[in-house]
Amino acid sequence: MRIAAEGGQELPSLETHARYREIEARMRRHAEAEAADLVARQAEAQQRAAQRAAAHAEAEAQAAIERERAAAEAAARQAVACADCGRERSAGLCEACDHRRQTEALIREAGLLAATWSADPSDQVAVAAVTAEVRTAVEAAIAAEWAQFQKITDPAALKAAGPDAVEGAAAHNAFLTAESAAAEYRQQALVMLGRSEDAEAEARKAYATELSKPWHQALPDSDDAQRAATEAATQAQTRTAEHLLAMRLEQLRTQAHPEPIRPAPWSQRLPELAARPLDGETLEVIA
Ligand SMILES: [Zn+2]
Repeated sequence: MRIAAEGGQELPSLETHARYREIEARMRRHAEAEAADLVARQAEAQQRAAQRAAAHAEAEAQAAIERERAAAEAAARQAVACADCGRERSAGLCEACDHRRQTEALIREAGLLAATWSADPSDQVAVAAVTAEVRTAVEAAIAAEWAQFQKITDPAALKAAGPDAVEGAAAHNAFLTAESAAAEYRQQALVMLGRSEDAEAEARKAYATELSKPWHQALPDSDDAQRAATEAATQAQTRTAEHLLAMRLEQLRTQAHPEPIRPAPWSQRLPELAARPLDGETLEVIA
């Protein structure tokens, strides 16, 4: 209608059919322009869709590259040989060497635990003597445990498992033995430090403090009062022993000489340990 009206205004003097032709021509041009516009818009939309698809494909490809890189890195990590024994594909440290390292740390810890009560912490020679003695005892216990393990294990099954499996079992056994030895040395240290002058003084003080409480003052010899006082004394003794243990361990650790980071592998030390005579004094210190 707009076109017809425009035509009416702009072409007042033309013949009717000529005006129609002009109007038709204008309508055609308008339709053509609209069609061209539509085509352009469609082309634009297609282009945008194509761009989105391309961006999506690029992101997908990038993600695939990332996944591939992560997988390659994981494979490379896994492929790294053991730092200690050189076994291939061990992610840097094989299980057996991990156990050996932990065993070594536990033996050191057990030595320091024994030194907390049996040596003057500032006397390095005395501390070294204690830790050496503990090391000998724990290594003998490890050798005895391994001998026992071999005795109760079917030799054919052990042989069939292969050298790696046997070595792994030995390392695991050593770790378990060292772990329980360290726990026993800790318990023993707490008992011994509980008998120290400091701990006994704290116990006496707690005992007296408990009995002086108003509700015990009337009947200090009653079962209830005695039980409460004894309990308070035991708690104070235990607390003091734990405190002394923590302090002395800290002192020993800070002044400890740096020890070799890489001890000789157990595979080399075990035969030597196994050859040592066992005279029953293995864990006498603990017992
Ligand atoms: Zn290893």
